[in-house]
Amino acid sequence: TAHRAGVALDTLVRVQQDFPIPGVLFRDLTAVLANAPALADVADALAWAEADVDLIAGIEARGFLLGAAAAVRRGLGVVAVRKPGKLPGAVLAEDYALEYGRGRLEMHPDDVPAGARVLIIDDVLATGGTAAAACRLIRRAGGIVAGISVAVELPALGGRAATGEVPLHALRAW
Ligand code: AMP
Repeated sequence: TAHRAGVALDTLVRVQQDFPIPGVLFRDLTAVLANAPALADVADALAWAEADVDLIAGIEARGFLLGAAAAVRRGLGVVAVRKPGKLPGAVLAEDYALEYGRGRLEMHPDDVPAGARVLIIDDVLATGGTAAAACRLIRRAGGIVAGISVAVELPALGGRAATGEVPLHALRAW
């Protein structure tokens, strides 16, 4: 499955120059999502069967698609880590810098049981600012970050160092 997931990413990820702003080499995974066997293989690989995990965290928006798919494949729930202003009620918020612009992530702390081992899932790890903010949210909610699982890691942007000691599982590094 891991091998097939890698092949699916190699063949179906589209690289778009200067999107959404000049200078960014954007990795577009929509064709992976739209392909049934590719989605199943990538979801299985992202679910990281070897890792001890109680809950998946999906980062808006592409991490929602992959995170929910992976959670279902592993029989786990998914907690939504959202862009600001989308979640009603009490939320935790963390600010971060990203490859293009600045951002903020919010999460419902009640969705993370105390001591739950949480696996963060997103499509691409670039500078790691997004994933690091998600780690802070999970810890503030009382969870344990079990790892970060991404389809594509962009090693030149330093995300692995930015996320510290957290185990990183990347299906492809480009
Ligand atoms: P970062 O916080 O720099 O690691 O950026 C990761 C987040 O931004 C992820 O949610 C990605 O979906 C998105 N992202 C950043 N850079 C890229 C890229 N080159 N291609 C596709 N998505 C990207």
